[in-house]
Amino acid sequence: MIVGVHPLAGFDKLLHYRVPANLAATVAVGSLVRIPVLRTLRLGIVGEIGAPKDFPLERLKSVAQVVHPFPALTEELLRLARWMANYYACSLDGVIETMIPGAVRSGAGLKMQKMLGVTRRLEAAELETLQRRAPQQARLYAFLAQQFKPQSKALVLSRLGVSAATVAALEKRGILGETALRVEREAYRDDFSAEERVASAPPKLNEEQAAAVTQVGSRLAAQRFNVTLLHGVTGSGKTEVYLHAIDTVLQAGGGVIFLVPEVALTPQTVARLRSRLEAIAPDHKCVVWHSHLSEGERLDGWLALAKGEARVVVGARSAVFAPVQNLRLIVVDEEHEPAYKQDETPRYHGRDVAVYRAKLNAAVCLLGSATPSLESYANTRAGRYDLAELRQRVDARRLPHIDVVDMRIEVARSRGLTTLSRKLADAMRDRLEKKEQTILFINRRGYSSSMLCTECGHVEDCAHCSIAMTYHRTDETLRCHLCGEQRPAPLTCPKCRSPKIRWRGLGTQRVEEAVRRVLPRARIERMDTDTMGKKNRFREILSQFRAGRIDVLVGTQMIGKGLDFPNVTLVGLVDADISMHIPDFRANERTFQLLVQVAGRAGRGDRAGEVVVQTFTPQAEAIQFSRHADYAGFAESELKLRHDFKYPPYRHLIQHRFRGPNVEKLKFFSEQWARRVEEAFGARIELRGPSPAPIEKIKDEYRWQIWYFTASVSKVIGELDRLRREFPWPDEITQVLDSDPVSLM
Ligand code: ADP
Ligand code: ZN
Ligand code: ZN
Repeated sequence: MIVGVHPLAGFDKLLHYRVPANLAATVAVGSLVRIPVLRTLRLGIVGEIGAPKDFPLERLKSVAQVVHPFPALTEELLRLARWMANYYACSLDGVIETMIPGAVRSGAGLKMQKMLGVTRRLEAAELETLQRRAPQQARLYAFLAQQFKPQSKALVLSRLGVSAATVAALEKRGILGETALRVEREAYRDDFSAEERVASAPPKLNEEQAAAVTQVGSRLAAQRFNVTLLHGVTGSGKTEVYLHAIDTVLQAGGGVIFLVPEVALTPQTVARLRSRLEAIAPDHKCVVWHSHLSEGERLDGWLALAKGEARVVVGARSAVFAPVQNLRLIVVDEEHEPAYKQDETPRYHGRDVAVYRAKLNAAVCLLGSATPSLESYANTRAGRYDLAELRQRVDARRLPHIDVVDMRIEVARSRGLTTLSRKLADAMRDRLEKKEQTILFINRRGYSSSMLCTECGHVEDCAHCSIAMTYHRTDETLRCHLCGEQRPAPLTCPKCRSPKIRWRGLGTQRVEEAVRRVLPRARIERMDTDTMGKKNRFREILSQFRAGRIDVLVGTQMIGKGLDFPNVTLVGLVDADISMHIPDFRANERTFQLLVQVAGRAGRGDRAGEVVVQTFTPQAEAIQFSRHADYAGFAESELKLRHDFKYPPYRHLIQHRFRGPNVEKLKFFSEQWARRVEEAFGARIELRGPSPAPIEKIKDEYRWQIWYFTASVSKVIGELDRLRREFPWPDEITQVLDSDPVSLM
């Protein structure tokens, strides 16, 4: 038997090997194998069985080992990998490495587990003393003394609830000892199982939900490829529709992938989903997939799916590659979320890969959002996707009232910069009295306080990057959020020596301070990427907030997703404009999405909610349409603009970025290259650039770019990529192609 193998070794090639007779039974397309490459053993994926005609067979080497006795990639995933390598202009082995978790690739399968056992038995008197002096130690000893053999340390610790210190104390006295044992794998563990299990009885569907369920159900029954966009206003009960579709698939023996943005993977959402899923199919566990998993947990989940022991996976972006058997349905919740796009190679978009994977499986892809991306919405209008709509909130609760505050008037009134308008401050005071809660949203961190000299207009930029430095009040420093550069905040203007320095813009810290001034007695917490280094802190604040021990929560968008706080009756958006002024053709779309999603956070309980939006441009369309959550109106007007400028979704965009230390060289080579592309492609590609990227310099490296507009990425990208490899780039220039880019900074 001869096989063609893709080595995971940094080059794109199919190499052929002989399969020894004793391994032949376990080798199939998609098998993970070890093969000799240049005198070392490398991992590879079997890409085909057999060899081309007239292939010289004499000097073939042999496959050394088969890592798992079943394929690590199904043929379908291998086809998906090939499509991705082409579409995102990256190497096939890079894609395969992204698809198969490291723990699976290393083929460990076996793990060392720490075992704990009794090494010295205690006399009755000794035990008695121990019971008096250190009851925990005595309990641990008594438990282990009853066992025949050493027990898993982790299991003992969690079962008995004793601490590692207790173990250490006994070990120090030679009473207990640790050994390591190779086990096939640890029992399936995950950190969500014990937490906040909410047993919720399924609610009775309302008419709109029932209609959507029927619509998706008939698509599932047809067993053909279909994409349905579920557009439902915030709080319309989209999750129930997903769950019913999942139920249908599981009853019929199929498998499901459920994608959510990483930030939405809070214990609360996961617990709710899982308890419902397990109620639907009690004999099937649901695998949870996210970036905080340990290698062991990842391996366990992956194996459970690959062996068909589990048929549902809930996870962030990379769960789209889960080895789910008989895949019938992929749900993409909050499909408009930019977080679905990976910002390193391979730069894939989780939603788009989901659609393509559904296509390969003749499965249904269900995209859901209150504010669909214009790409998906345009696809429904062109008839490529189906549309299902939920226009009502469940129980016909009304959408919250949105107040738009014109900050130009506020600033004029207060004769200077204001953080909180009178309207917002009054509303917060009112909530505090009623013991209701407030969330204040701020746009993103990177746009917080910068230094402005009111005398000469100087803004202090980072010396290595072309962005303004951010002022941090806690330690009186200026910091660059791109490269980490840090220095003491100046007392006078570095340029003109004037002491008239102002700190412009709004950071979360600054808003927090403003809230303290307005509500001195309120309990306030801040949540942003600065304070949220650890996931536990994140959970802690959320659970305190839920328990009502925090009155006002100040944070960036990250608090927005997937969280349900019935006692929140006021939501303030402090700086609605900022996302509109970034140089991104999706700026309006992002602003509209932010406003509608933020508004959806208010009044989810039985109380009506109120939303206060502060802006310097109250007349902007994104703001006006969001006041009535008028998605159709917004989409209509924004699509018209996109159409006029022939921007996505009317054409695809490929972004080509060039980086290098010397700006002249960068400019020269990108111009030469642009000419080369024009020659080769003619009218098939429309070029824009070369020009500096919006942030022209990061960490002393210059960044330039070219945009290519094209009707079809897959028709041009392969050729573009080949051309780029042949082009004589100097070593100091690195470049990246990004198909359908999401981040344009
Ligand atoms: P969405 O994702 O559309 O914003 P969710 O799916 O989170 O909304 O549902 C919002 C809330 O409404 C949840 O607490 C959910 O349990 C509840 N819910 C959903 N459908 C119904 C229904 N038919 N009747 C009553 N409550 C429902
Ligand atoms: Zn100055
Ligand atoms: Zn910098």
